[in-house]
Amino acid sequence: MTKPIRGRFAPSPSGRMHLGNLFAALLAWLDVRSLGGEMLLRMEDLDPDRCKPAYTPQLAEDLRWLGLDWDLGWQEGQDEYCQSYRTEFYAEAFRALEGEGLVYPCYCSRKELLAASAPHGSDGARVYSGRCRGLSPAERAALEAQGRRPAWRIAVPEETISFTDGNFGPQSEVLSRDCGDFILRRSDGVYAYQLAVTADDGLMGVNRVVRGWDLLSSTPRQIWLMERLGYAVPTYCHLPLLCSGEGRRLAKRDRDLDVGALRRVTTPEKVTGFLARAAGLIDRFEAVSPRELIGEFSWERVGRADRVVEEIDWASL
Ligand SMILES: [Zn+2]
Repeated sequence: MTKPIRGRFAPSPSGRMHLGNLFAALLAWLDVRSLGGEMLLRMEDLDPDRCKPAYTPQLAEDLRWLGLDWDLGWQEGQDEYCQSYRTEFYAEAFRALEGEGLVYPCYCSRKELLAASAPHGSDGARVYSGRCRGLSPAERAALEAQGRRPAWRIAVPEETISFTDGNFGPQSEVLSRDCGDFILRRSDGVYAYQLAVTADDGLMGVNRVVRGWDLLSSTPRQIWLMERLGYAVPTYCHLPLLCSGEGRRLAKRDRDLDVGALRRVTTPEKVTGFLARAAGLIDRFEAVSPRELIGEFSWERVGRADRVVEEIDWASL
């Protein structure tokens, strides 16, 4: 028997979602529902500096408001689907990688990282030089004695990771050249997003990941980790982003487009209609529910180009 398609919503409770988050959530849901698959909700609240528990139920409620549902994952009182409750799984994955001899402490300060890293990786991020990879035990001890607390990096091979994105097509990256040894655990003990998301998708049996293309460049790292940890690699499909008139992607600072503001001025059907029109799923704006769009979903219509959102007059829609 083949496994059912399982997709996921993975929002961060660092504030109210905005229109761009709803765009991604709606399309992820439509993709999975159009394939007859199931959805899971996971709260990515790993970063205690950014995330607040109070936002978690609000996120779920905002997804429901739009008309989206999920079959498993977070529900009120089930915090085992919050990353902040899943540290033991990340610790286990970390230990498994450590056991392969791939993990090492990095003592670099921010300034040292800037000085020692190549300026650009494939996504404009800095590529770590591997400066701390070859430190001897004595050198490590000396740095520890200075009171430096290390972050933990994984040594990546000179290996080309290739995959076919469900929307962006064939992709490939040489981990050592385009990304470099990346962080698995921060110096304050918090596990890094790359490790957590890999362990979660693997353990939760997620086999279809639909998300914004801003995460396309981290996909090879996740695929490589999945293979190291013995998980089945999901199919990845990356979405275009919603951008503001100035061409930058919508962010939580666009207050008038956060769900709290939207809920005061418009209806979920209008928001869904607006997003479906922006996604190319319908030709003319109409108020519509997500369920009515399942038959309209296709990746050809969604395409790859980011969408610009000008000021929206909800009352006149
Ligand atoms: Zn270092």
